[in-house]
Amino acid sequence: MRRVGRDVMSNRNWIILALLAVTMTAVAQQPASAPQNPQPATAAPGQTAAQPSAAPSGQAQSDQSQSPQAQANLAPPTTMDQVVDRVIMREKELIKFLSPRTPIVETYLQNLTQDPQLGPIPQDDHYFLGRMDLSDSIDRSDYLQEKGKGEGEGMEKRLLGGLTKKFKFQYQPLGFSWMIFADRNDFDRQHYNFHYARREFLGDVRCLVFDLTPKKDAGHGRFLGRIWIEDQDFNIVRLNGTYAHASRNSYYYHMDSWRLNLIPGYWVPAYIYSEEGDFTAGAKNKIAFKAQTRMWGYNLKAGTPNDELTNIRVDSVKDDTPTAQDATPLAAEREWQQQAEDNVLERLERAGLLAPAGDVDKILQTVVNNIEITNNIELPRPVRTRVLTTSPLETFSVGNTIVVSRGLIDVLPDEGSLAMVLSHELAHIVLGHNLGSQFAFSDRMLFSDEGTYQNLGFKHIPEEEAAADKKAVEMLKASPYAQKLDSAGLFIKALQKRAPQLSALLQAHLGNNITENGTVTRMAQLANSAPALDWNKLDQIAALPLGGRVKLNPWDDRVEIVKAQPVAITSARDKMPFEVTPFFPRLSRYSAVSTPAATTAAAPTATATTADANPAPTN
Ligand SMILES: [Zn+2]
Repeated sequence: MRRVGRDVMSNRNWIILALLAVTMTAVAQQPASAPQNPQPATAAPGQTAAQPSAAPSGQAQSDQSQSPQAQANLAPPTTMDQVVDRVIMREKELIKFLSPRTPIVETYLQNLTQDPQLGPIPQDDHYFLGRMDLSDSIDRSDYLQEKGKGEGEGMEKRLLGGLTKKFKFQYQPLGFSWMIFADRNDFDRQHYNFHYARREFLGDVRCLVFDLTPKKDAGHGRFLGRIWIEDQDFNIVRLNGTYAHASRNSYYYHMDSWRLNLIPGYWVPAYIYSEEGDFTAGAKNKIAFKAQTRMWGYNLKAGTPNDELTNIRVDSVKDDTPTAQDATPLAAEREWQQQAEDNVLERLERAGLLAPAGDVDKILQTVVNNIEITNNIELPRPVRTRVLTTSPLETFSVGNTIVVSRGLIDVLPDEGSLAMVLSHELAHIVLGHNLGSQFAFSDRMLFSDEGTYQNLGFKHIPEEEAAADKKAVEMLKASPYAQKLDSAGLFIKALQKRAPQLSALLQAHLGNNITENGTVTRMAQLANSAPALDWNKLDQIAALPLGGRVKLNPWDDRVEIVKAQPVAITSARDKMPFEVTPFFPRLSRYSAVSTPAATTAAAPTATATTADANPAPTN
C-alpha cells in the first residue's frame, strides 16, 4: 500500500529538498556572476591564423563536430583571410541547413522603470510566440492572435530589427529574432570588414573574436558588432552588437545572440538577449527594456497531419487485458478521458509547446506523490506531470496529467512553492473536475500548430477553481510541505506585488489565469499566514528570475533542471523576481554535451528518494 509513516516521509522530504536546493537559491545572479572565462590573448593575430587552433588536423576533429560536407578536403586555414573565408562559408551552410526548418520563437519583453531602491524594475511587459520560417527570408507566424495584423506584418519585414518611432515604440516581434544570423543575404567581404580582435574562451570552447563593420556603401540594416568563432570548424557561436545605418523612422535594438552545438557540425541559434535603456542621471533616452528571445523546436515536423502516417504507434491499438470484454460504463468513461488526454499531449508536443517526457517530470511527480501518499489518495491511474515549453506562468490539467509551464518552474523559489502549484491541479483531478473529454474526437486535433491556443483550452469555472484551492490547502496541510508553506505564501505575495506590471507573463494561454485584473486569485489564502515581504532581507527569496531553473534544448525540446552553483546575493537588486536577465550559456562542443541517454541515467537520484516509499508510476 502507499501508506508511509509521517516521520519517514519528512526525512524523505528533507532529501528531496536538498536536491532541489541546488537550484533553489540565487539563480538570480546568473548574469553578474557567470564568467565568460576571458582568456588573455596569447597569440598575435598572425600567429593565430597560422595555427588557428589546437586542432591537430582536419582528420582528428572531424568525427563528431564537423558536418559531412564540411570535412571533405578542407585543410585548416593558415592565414586570417582564410579563416574569414571559412567563417563565411560555414555561415552560408548554416543558413542552407536551417532553411527547411520552422523553429518556435518566443520573445518576452519587460519595459523598465527606475525604482530608487531596486533599480530598473518592470513597468509593463509584452509576449510574442510564433513559428519562424527560415526558408527564403526570415518570416514568422504567430501563435497569439494579433490585433491589426496585415499592415504590421509588411512593416515588420521592412524594419528588420527595428522599432518605429512613429508608432510609439511598437515592438516588432520579428525584430527580436532577426539576429539569428549576422546577415541573411549578404554576409561577405563585399559588405563587411572583418577585424581580428583576440582569442577568448566561451565556456569550454576556444573562440576567435572578430569585429565586424559594414562597408561604407553597404546600405541600411547591416550588422555592426562582434562575432565569436569556434576554432575547429569556424562556426559563429555568438554575435553581439546592433545594426548600422538606421533609416529615419526606425531604431535598431542592441542584441546578444548565442548558438549551441546541439547536433554534429552545426551551431544553431538558441538565445538572444536585447536591452536598451540608460538610467544614469539626466539621461534622455526614453526607451528602456530588456527582452529574452528563445528559439526551439528546430527538429519539429513542419508538415501536415499526413506526416503522422509514418508514425503510427502500433501499441496503442493492442488490447492486452486478460479478459477482453466491453468496458463497463465507468471504465469506458475513464478510457475516453485517457484518449482525450493522450490526444492533447501528443498534439501539444507536436506543436512544440510541450517538452517530451523526461527528468523534470520525475521531480514534479515526486512532489505529487508526496502529497498523494500523505493524503491517502488512490487514483485509478497514476498522475503524470509534463512541462510546457513556454514562459508565461500557467498550469492546467488534462485527464490525469498536470502540465506546468517552464516559466513558472523557473520562478518558484523552492519545493514548498512547487508543491503549492501542483496541489491545485492535483485537487482538480481528485475532485473529478475533468476537462477536455471533447478532445477524444480525433477531428478536433486537426488544426495548424499556430491554431493551438484557439483550438485547445482547459479553463475551469470559478466554482471549480475555488473548490480546487480549498482542497489543495487541505492536502498541503496534511503533506510533508505543511511546514514549508511560508515560502509558498511569500511567493504569492511577491507575485501580488509585481502582478500589475506583468500582465503578459501572467496571461495563461491554455489554463486558468493565476491572477485576475492584477490580483492573485490562485491559492491566495496561503499569503495570509506568510511572513511580511521584504525586498531588503537578503535571505528572503520570494521568487526567482526567469530562465534560471529549467533548460530547454532548442533542437529536441527536452527540458532539464539547470545544475548551476548558487551565487550569493549581495543586494536587494540581485533578487530580480520574475525578471528577464542576459544569457550566459556555458558553451560546449556537441560530443561534450550530455546526450539524452546520459541525462536520463543521471536522473534517478531524484526519483530514487521515493522509489521505495511508493510504487511510482513509470512511463
Ligand atoms: Zn484550476
